[in-house]
Amino acid sequence: MSRKNTSRRLDLRKSVFKNKLTFPAFFLIVILAGYLIFHNISSEKIIEAKPNNLNIIEDNADTVNNIDHSTDNIDMIEAKKSSIAEAVNSSDKSEPKTTLINDNRGVPVLYYHSVRESADNEVTITPKLLRTELQYIRDEGYVTLTLSELKAYILNNSPIPTKSILITFDDGYMDNYDNAFPILKDLNMVATIFCITSNLDGSYYLSKEAIDEMSHYGIDIESHTVNHPKLNKMTYDEQLSEFIDSKKTLESITGKKIDSIAYPFGDFNDDSIKAAKDAGYTLGFTTKKGLSDRDDNPLKLDRIYISSKYDMDTFKEILNKTKK
Ligand SMILES: [Zn+2]
Repeated sequence: MSRKNTSRRLDLRKSVFKNKLTFPAFFLIVILAGYLIFHNISSEKIIEAKPNNLNIIEDNADTVNNIDHSTDNIDMIEAKKSSIAEAVNSSDKSEPKTTLINDNRGVPVLYYHSVRESADNEVTITPKLLRTELQYIRDEGYVTLTLSELKAYILNNSPIPTKSILITFDDGYMDNYDNAFPILKDLNMVATIFCITSNLDGSYYLSKEAIDEMSHYGIDIESHTVNHPKLNKMTYDEQLSEFIDSKKTLESITGKKIDSIAYPFGDFNDDSIKAAKDAGYTLGFTTKKGLSDRDDNPLKLDRIYISSKYDMDTFKEILNKTKK
């Protein structure tokens, strides 16, 4: 561009002298040329400063083709600048949901359990490490989806933000409210909690009040059965009542439809899938490693286990390398 601008400036100067324009007119033209050059440099600075946003834009194939192969076209450069400005502006907000994809690349659905100071087991993560991991997710430009957004993507072909992710917690421990919920609020993220409904008294598992408050905030509250049994050792009818009873309990607390379930221990059989469907669930989550995508049976969606023993390098690798 700078070469073109320079030659344009020379052309302007020649025509100025040829036509014997007055000095103020020449001065105005010089200002205009300077403005054009400056504008160009500033837009390049924005690209350097916001690598994530550039990635977001690059996922929009139409825009990118225009940008990369037409850099000598002023209109295209203006379009590029406004796209970048849009991406930059949207990244200032908590949820940059503006740039969407609609292919079947799938969505990482992370699952955690307990969140409190270390009990030295891999399903209990410290609030500090959880915050570090969620902050990383946010800094990488991920958008946390609600379950209905995932459902619309999987079942109805709806588009989702380029970097979408679901954060889920299994079992419904009271410490999720005490320790994870404040972090999620701080980072302006949403998540899903799959609750065991047998003892919702706030001592070990969540209290009804905590469930209600988080549900109002936008945390999805969903089922993890009543008693956390090994489903594949149960009859169809036994499984059906685990699914129906936990659903009713949670619906009575939240006043919202409960239509997703995570199978305890990731154990299930064909009866589980049938019973889940018959009980009115549309999404079911397993512990099989992978992304949730449209090729999965919606009642057997893959997730990604996050152990509290992972260091940040391991966490990043698992997040970035897990395939469908
Ligand atoms: Zn569980």
